[in-house]
Amino acid sequence: MRPRKSLLILMALAVLCPFQNLAAQEKQIAILHARLIDGLGGPPVEDAAVILQANKITYAGAASGARVTQGSQVIEAKGKTVMPGLADMHVHLTGGWDGIGTDLLGYQRYLNAMLYAGITTVLDTGNYQPWVLQLRQEAASGRLLSPRIYCTGAMIDAADPAWPDLAYALTSRAQIPEFVERDKRNGVDLIKGYANLSDRMLRRLVQEAHKQKLRVVIDQWERNGSPDLVQTGIDGFAHAPTRKMPADDIQAIKENGLFVITTLTVEEYSGRRRLADLKFLEEPFIADTTPPWFLTDLRAEATRNLSEAEKSEVQQAAAGFDEMKRNVKKLLDAGVLVAAGTDAPYPGVFQGEALHREMELLVAAGLTPLQAIRLATFNAARIMNAEEEWGSLQAGRAANVVIVAGNPAERISDSRKIEAVILNGRLLDRSSLKFDAKRDPGFRAVGGNFSSPLQ
Ligand SMILES: [Zn+2]
Repeated sequence: MRPRKSLLILMALAVLCPFQNLAAQEKQIAILHARLIDGLGGPPVEDAAVILQANKITYAGAASGARVTQGSQVIEAKGKTVMPGLADMHVHLTGGWDGIGTDLLGYQRYLNAMLYAGITTVLDTGNYQPWVLQLRQEAASGRLLSPRIYCTGAMIDAADPAWPDLAYALTSRAQIPEFVERDKRNGVDLIKGYANLSDRMLRRLVQEAHKQKLRVVIDQWERNGSPDLVQTGIDGFAHAPTRKMPADDIQAIKENGLFVITTLTVEEYSGRRRLADLKFLEEPFIADTTPPWFLTDLRAEATRNLSEAEKSEVQQAAAGFDEMKRNVKKLLDAGVLVAAGTDAPYPGVFQGEALHREMELLVAAGLTPLQAIRLATFNAARIMNAEEEWGSLQAGRAANVVIVAGNPAERISDSRKIEAVILNGRLLDRSSLKFDAKRDPGFRAVGGNFSSPLQ
């Protein structure tokens, strides 16, 4: 009774693998006659083709040189632009929109929001450790529809950690080997050191981490970028500095080979610049993917009266934002490895949309649109030492691709005109990624404390 047996096997597979449709499609995809931005920063190639097979790019270049096999899925893209899938190298996969409250059970909604906006890779820079490790595992196995996830696990902070739920607290340097061993066992991609660590502790943390072949990225708020921190041996800063940076400080970062993740978007939020005009909430990346109550709460937050203390904090942050923009440009011009990140979610910093905002702010900071795109693609991969694997449209790289209407090489905001997202060689049905009150559970974020100065 062979037919029946195979039918049973098929049925069993359908039950066992509810997400089998996440597997890459085997059929070749040919994107033809598009403008090609490869992510490396060079000028776009007009009338180009990108060919994808399974989860790899097999060709990217002039359309005339492309070999399209019979039976391919052809995407005619004349007048459109094809670019690498985007990467946000500073997020927290905790859901919520306030960045403090958490909405873990609503994870599919915020993963969908990122995919909807063409984000195919993220670096989570601080989270509940077992939670984010499991998310990463499920995404990597293909059981969860998600951008590729890299993560630091929980942050490592000192006594009285700034984010007690998201950090392990060191009270003595003697604990450091054990902490690092745990991170090594857990397979975190980087270690994130946080604000309360003294330089002595940080130095020891870096030594132990490097012994275990782990790198250390840090956030020490207004100290970010300081030569004292550079001297501890760290590998990167999770935020561009908001302090004034003399040329020597920039040079120290360059000479020591540190990388810097930008996060202009969160600083724009801290200075409440973006909340001054809420028109951006109608932007499809936000309107299509966000539960209505988040937006109601955000409108209320944007119009509430601030205390005097908050007003002065906001003023300081606004000045920090201006300085940060200058620093990003200086660091890049000095040859430092800089990648784009947003610190989503915060009020007005939405997972997905925020990266497009980040690229606009990078252009406002003086970068060319092609440089901004490079920061959100190729340079992001370089931070993870994965540029041979993803981050550019070249043969052999992962088939993570977005197709946009218009020309982001001239107008960076055209990156918002996404028409198609391909993740690991699979063309996503973007309409199924939109927020759906019937399908997406109505978990409310818990906690929430807008007055917190923490980032
Ligand atoms: Zn952060």
